[in-house]
Amino acid sequence: LRNKPIQHDKNRNNMKNLKHASSNLSYKEDIKATRQSLPCFRSRTELLTMVRENQVSIIVGETGSGKTTQLPQYLYEDGFTTNGKLIGVTQPRRVAAMSVAKRVAQEMGVKIKEEVGYSIRFEDYSSPQTRIKFMTDGILLREVLLDNDLDKYSCIIIDEAHERTLNTDVMLGILRTLLQRRKDLRLIITSATLNAAKFSKFFGNAPQFTIPGRTFPVEINYSKYPVADYVEEAMKKAVNIHLTTSIESGDILIFMTGQEDVEATTESIEEKLLEVYRKKGEASTFHDVNNIEIFPIYSALAPELQSRIFHKLDKTKRKIVVATNIAETSLTIDGIRYVIDCGYSKLKVYNPRIGLDSLAITPISLANANQRSGRAGRTAPGVAYRLYTEEASETDMYSSTIPEIQRTDLSNTVLLLKSLGVENVMKFPFIDTPPIQTLLNSFYELWSVGAIDNFGELTKLGTDMSKLPLQPSLSKILLNSITFGCSTEILIIVAMLSIPQIFKRPKEREKESDKARSRFFIPQSDHLTLLNVYLQWKSNNFSTQWCSNHFIQGKSLEKAEDIRKQLLRVMEKQNFTLKSAGSNWDIIRECICTGFSHQAAKLSGLKRYVHLRTGMHTKLHPTSALFGMGDLPSYIIYNELLMTSTEYLVCVTAVDPFWLMESGLLLYDIKKQEETNDYSIGLLGTKGISNNNEVDVEEARKVVREKL
Ligand code: ADP
Ligand code: MG
Repeated sequence: LRNKPIQHDKNRNNMKNLKHASSNLSYKEDIKATRQSLPCFRSRTELLTMVRENQVSIIVGETGSGKTTQLPQYLYEDGFTTNGKLIGVTQPRRVAAMSVAKRVAQEMGVKIKEEVGYSIRFEDYSSPQTRIKFMTDGILLREVLLDNDLDKYSCIIIDEAHERTLNTDVMLGILRTLLQRRKDLRLIITSATLNAAKFSKFFGNAPQFTIPGRTFPVEINYSKYPVADYVEEAMKKAVNIHLTTSIESGDILIFMTGQEDVEATTESIEEKLLEVYRKKGEASTFHDVNNIEIFPIYSALAPELQSRIFHKLDKTKRKIVVATNIAETSLTIDGIRYVIDCGYSKLKVYNPRIGLDSLAITPISLANANQRSGRAGRTAPGVAYRLYTEEASETDMYSSTIPEIQRTDLSNTVLLLKSLGVENVMKFPFIDTPPIQTLLNSFYELWSVGAIDNFGELTKLGTDMSKLPLQPSLSKILLNSITFGCSTEILIIVAMLSIPQIFKRPKEREKESDKARSRFFIPQSDHLTLLNVYLQWKSNNFSTQWCSNHFIQGKSLEKAEDIRKQLLRVMEKQNFTLKSAGSNWDIIRECICTGFSHQAAKLSGLKRYVHLRTGMHTKLHPTSALFGMGDLPSYIIYNELLMTSTEYLVCVTAVDPFWLMESGLLLYDIKKQEETNDYSIGLLGTKGISNNNEVDVEEARKVVREKL
């Protein structure tokens, strides 16, 4: 089959094999008509010819033109899977992978996990029957680890390539070499923006095709003054549009940065509208407001709630969708005529100077701003309200977002490339090279956790770590827990850290829910608090009722349990057995410390901590179990650094400085501290590679004891 992945004659059988979910003819006709109305359809033949004749094709098209949902189906219909191979489609976001897979399954009249499946971390809905597989770009990277040639695929679509996520970029680099070994493999790169030339160049001037599309003009309105509170401003705009325009004029899409402000916006619109209609005597609760439905959407939202945004409402109702940048290009919601854009998004930002990754609310780029506004003009002329001044857009916004590879921690990437046998990571074909300092820091970090040796080669620990689908620090504590004798508990903690949102905090019941939450607190540790929640849930027979009684997201806990079992299977495959620490929870904290010594901080004031490696001033996050403690521990490690207007440490655990010293020997230069007598930035102080690798632990302990 080399060079010939297409067999037209089998095509008909393929179609026959489809089990139709509904025998209702008009339903099928409807779907057919909808599919044929998409801009992609007119280019179907051209697209297929291009893919047939070229190993790599670049396809550009407006959001909503049908790239994601149609291309894989065209390839399927054209016989790309008749040789038993799959069409793989990657998405940068989990929600998108899940949502588009469901849509395509629906269009093809099959159930998810049959011909159409999806796979995201810890959730695999694919089967041997699956022919079109949607997945996150991260999943495909993991698959390369197991199957270097990606032999089971006949075609790979790297979708949403314009997003330039770290995983997409790494995947493109890997594919460039892989394609030379697999001459029969087809690669399609799709992008929503016109600057696709870079991809073409990277793949030896691969042909580009732009799907002709029709977009309508969008009137752009900037804010006249800088906006102090974009949640409130967005609420006012949305309410104003709703009250002053006819419902048929169209739906509203609001862009916010993350779950918190999406929820805050949703609530404040509900409140305001209720107030308005109450004054008119038309409603006493929001339930009575029957001409509007508000749908929040963000990645951590439960899947059942996510798909609601696509439901068609009847003509008497207006839809307001409050979304994160997921609705920018990944998901298309029909019927939007008004867009309200807060002008910010939450980005993972790595600062190579201080060696830290953090989530920061940053101004979007002009390219993002145009994408956001464009959502209003897909089917008719629209209006976009930008909650920032025109001047700010000129001074604060880059023309396009800096690729993730140039702004995040690369430890995991380096570990992956090493596991793939890439000799010289510095020479890996990156589409945009990451800053050399970031790569060096990653090497340093991997070396300091013991994943690579002095020659830059993977150690046994590093090899074991790369087999776990986790961040290096979590992999490390899980592997270390075996020798510490607390693997049962660490496995639970790692699983609990892999799910969003455990505690519920419903509006108007904040006090009550905070109180319920505090009953689970283990005063020394948020990690142990998570363990505690799990253990209590377990001793209540994993009851859903128990969860709702205690303001806990039952669905999240079930997810955690599922992840725990999956990780357990990975561990069992490597012959690791579980052992419980019993009541000795100190050992659990000590074990956690071994993976997080690079994320440690020292008490420096009222609920304030100074970062040990960088001297950065941070605060304890108010949700922490430690927050209400009178006597805060002197040293803590943290799971996440959240940067908003203040730097917060999220999910922390009190640690003994000696543990830090032992596991952070390579990070912190104790001797130098002692010589200079400079403890101003914490116990262990300096950053960078210590010249002094052979610290005498006993000696160091003595020094610290005396000084503390
Ligand atoms: P692109 O990838 O080019 O942005 P898509 O293939 O995602 O375009 O979308 C094509 C069309 O399919 C759009 O009109 C969109 O509204 C529709 N669509 C996509 N997903 C869903 C869904 N889950 N439910 C209903 N319609 C959907
Ligand atoms: Mg798409």
